[in-house]
Parts: sequence; C-alpha cells; structure tokens
Amino acid sequence: MVPFTEHSTKEEWTAGWDTKIEGPVLDDYWRNLAKTAAKFEEIRAICGDKPITINSGLRGKIRNSQIPGASLTSAHLWGLAGDLLPPAGMTLQEMFNRVVQHPTCMLSIDQLIIERGCLHYGLVVPAQRLIPRRDLRTEKDIAGIRTYPLLRIWTPPRGA
Ligand SMILES: [Zn+2]
Repeated sequence: MVPFTEHSTKEEWTAGWDTKIEGPVLDDYWRNLAKTAAKFEEIRAICGDKPITINSGLRGKIRNSQIPGASLTSAHLWGLAGDLLPPAGMTLQEMFNRVVQHPTCMLSIDQLIIERGCLHYGLVVPAQRLIPRRDLRTEKDIAGIRTYPLLRIWTPPRGA
C-alpha cells in the first residue's frame, strides 16, 4: 500500500482504474486525486476522525460504463469524486448532515449525494464548469429507474 494522504493510499483512490485496460494513471488525474483526497481528510475529520472506507475514487471509462446508471460525465472519471462509507456508529444520513452543516467543507463541493450506500462527493470538473453547483441529492427509485432528485442547493449558513 502506497500512502497518499495521512489516512488514504494510492491503491484506494485508483481501485476503479485498471491499468491493463486504461494505461497508467495520468499526472493530471493524480493532481485531481490530491484535491479529492484532501477533501476526504476534511470529511473524515468532521465525522469524528474515525476510519472511513473509500469505496470509489478515480474510475476508468470502461469500469464506469459497467455501473448501471453511472453518469457519463461523472467526476469520478476525472478523479474528482469520492464515494465513502460512513464511519462505525454513524449512519449515511448523519454523515451527510455533518458535511452539509460544515460551511468550509461544503464551499468547494459540487455535488453531495447519498447513493448506493455511500456518500458521494464531487468537486468541480474544470472542463465542465467553473463554480461548484453545491447540489444536495439523494437517490430515488422511480419505476425501477435510479434517479438523483435535487433536495436543495446548499447555501452558507447565515453569519458564516
Ligand atoms: Zn460517486
């Protein structure tokens, strides 16, 4: 295991990238993953500084296409998103709420979504937009189709 940040390894961030299919991870993606991993450390700290499993980080195009309902413009394809499991003793909803209530952590988050048993956070993909959307979403099964309705747009708490 190659350490990447204090509490994460390079392998955890690139488990969804098959070098045999996709080739080596590009430097640009490593730079993006550094931002994503720094945000992970922030989230980990505000969730009580307990171990958190990284379910997905960078995803290759082929791997992404095998996930039902995965977005073709997913920030995972750029290494700018992470899917996290809640730490022991915390539900997914509690984890979501913790992040939402943390203004400095939320400011740079483009999307925060409860999906597939994970907390997905995405950072801005510069090729797609300049300003984070600050979307708060949750998954909903509508007639067998997985959708991600918008709960609300996050805004900083008054006085923050
Ligand atoms: Zn995700």
